[in-house]
Amino acid sequence: MNSFDLHCHSWFSDGTLCPADVVKRAASNNVRYLALTDHDTVSGLKEAQATAQELGIHLIPGIEISVSWNSKTLHVLGLNIQPDTLILQHAVAKIADIRFKRAQAIALDLEKAGIPHAWEGALQYAHSTDSITRTHFARFLVEYGAAPSLGKVYRHFLRPGKPGYAKATWLDLDDTIRIIHEAKGVAVLAHPGRYDLSATACKRLLGQFAELGGDGIEVITSNHTPEQTRYFTEHCLRLGLKASCGSDFHSPEESRIDLGHIASLPAGLTPIWSNWLSILEH
Ligand code: AMP
Ligand code: MN
Ligand code: MN
Ligand code: MN
Repeated sequence: MNSFDLHCHSWFSDGTLCPADVVKRAASNNVRYLALTDHDTVSGLKEAQATAQELGIHLIPGIEISVSWNSKTLHVLGLNIQPDTLILQHAVAKIADIRFKRAQAIALDLEKAGIPHAWEGALQYAHSTDSITRTHFARFLVEYGAAPSLGKVYRHFLRPGKPGYAKATWLDLDDTIRIIHEAKGVAVLAHPGRYDLSATACKRLLGQFAELGGDGIEVITSNHTPEQTRYFTEHCLRLGLKASCGSDFHSPEESRIDLGHIASLPAGLTPIWSNWLSILEH
């Protein structure tokens, strides 16, 4: 259990709960510092903030930005951001457009593979069109009967070489870090163990992230093995980066790990919140 959970989703991206319910659930799990980090949108933050204030917990405004790096997709969290910063708003609008067009291409590709009405089907699961994700298509594909579970959907659909794949080029890593900094936030490389990189490529990514001014690594996340936690702890210390922790909670039905149900940061690491004085003071 952890009183900090700095990574989760609401229905403004691919979570299933409204922001108010995410915050309520976090509070009842004894989370005291919660960052809502929807994919490429800040639309849920106002509602989350209002509920956090009512319940007396701290809501840290966040976002999870999609990044293209060496033909891989990475996720970079912007934490403690000022959501109304113009350059961030522009980036958000740009990615919403990329997502919308990619979603249309996904629907068309599924149509060609003999699965009709995927566009309407996926949109049924989306609360807004700000951030249409593969998760929305995955939920539709389970409902349609194309696969028995979300996990199986991602094995047979929505990825390169499979029906329902459409390539997207997201933001550059350097632009993303710069935009987060302009929005007065800190940039954290999300779930670094999930990118399926060789040891050499992973080291190169961490080095580049630090060189470009990245602030921290998400050392504690629901899908790291103990070995990965040790590995990223070492690299955090080596590169002088701070460390973050988050559940990446999406849904009570779909997520294996609940809000706040994550380990504490390993000893010796500097928490990403170490200089968030105004938040930690009261
Ligand atoms: P997108 O950003 O639209 O490409 O969608 C990515 C989202 O799909 C991730 O944030 C996850 O929530 C979900 N996702 C991707 N791969 C898997 C998987 N193998 N199992 C479950 N969810 C996945
Ligand atoms: Mn997601
Ligand atoms: Mn992610
Ligand atoms: Mn996430």
